Amino acid sequence: MEQKIRHVLGLSGGKDSSALAVYMRDRVPDMEYFFSDTGKELPETYEYLDKLEVFLGKPIVRLNMHDDHNEDRDFDHYWEYIYEGLLPSSQVRWCTINLKIRPFEAYIGEDKAYHYIAIRADEDRVGYKPPKISSLPNIQPKYPFKEDGITKADVYRILEENGIGLPSYYEWRTRSGCYFCFFQRKSEWVGLLEKHPDLFELAKAYEKPNPHSKTGELFTWCQGESLEELSKPERIAEIKTNTEKAIEDKKKAIADKKITKPNQTLMQILTEVHDDEDDEEPCLICHK
Ligand code: SF4
Repeated sequence: MEQKIRHVLGLSGGKDSSALAVYMRDRVPDMEYFFSDTGKELPETYEYLDKLEVFLGKPIVRLNMHDDHNEDRDFDHYWEYIYEGLLPSSQVRWCTINLKIRPFEAYIGEDKAYHYIAIRADEDRVGYKPPKISSLPNIQPKYPFKEDGITKADVYRILEENGIGLPSYYEWRTRSGCYFCFFQRKSEWVGLLEKHPDLFELAKAYEKPNPHSKTGELFTWCQGESLEELSKPERIAEIKTNTEKAIEDKKKAIADKKITKPNQTLMQILTEVHDDEDDEEPCLICHK
């Protein structure tokens, strides 16, 4: 008997994968939804996933470090024993590999599966090759948004029209993922400090001296700046001023019709500002 092909869609807690789940709900009824849970997510992410689960009418399978395949090895295990205090970074994304991709591949096992990925049509730049999350040959990527011409504006519309909206953390941070994610912009770290001071303190506690450094150099989440330094009042004020200026510039550009983006909410403008600031590709499985 021919093996049944599974249909799977991973949620990151971000807008694009959430909109894709909404979009696919009635198109692929036997879709399996999953979320790779690092145990270091924001409380707002769990709330948003609960909301989505109600809309989808089926559970979002939580893959986490307590699953057998990962032998109870959570972020702290890898951080302390395997990477000796080295914090993950855009150059060394050990967290994504161990805590997001491996649990996903273990969940699929040797089954054949179509994996639905939320790459939008407006990301389809010339020469752009849509990335895969897994390179296993039994997992084949599918890009419905790209095929159907769904853009960022459509993503907002899909979420709005279906009563889902954006995750509430979008008020201060426009990327899903761990509360301490190194991909955060400086303004988002300030947001974490103000919205979740307890989580900011936990993130700060990970910044420890490199045991192999003779100069006592710190491992830090942000390049060249510790969270201790970032949380000084004068530094916070500087970061806020820069963000406010970027938002005002973006609003002015919209008003001047230099860019055509009508009826944008402040959250959407903030997303645009953050997107402009990005000079590196985020992690597909964490931030879509
Ligand atoms: S959200 Fe950031 S810190 Fe968390 S697993 Fe993904 S890349 Fe790593």
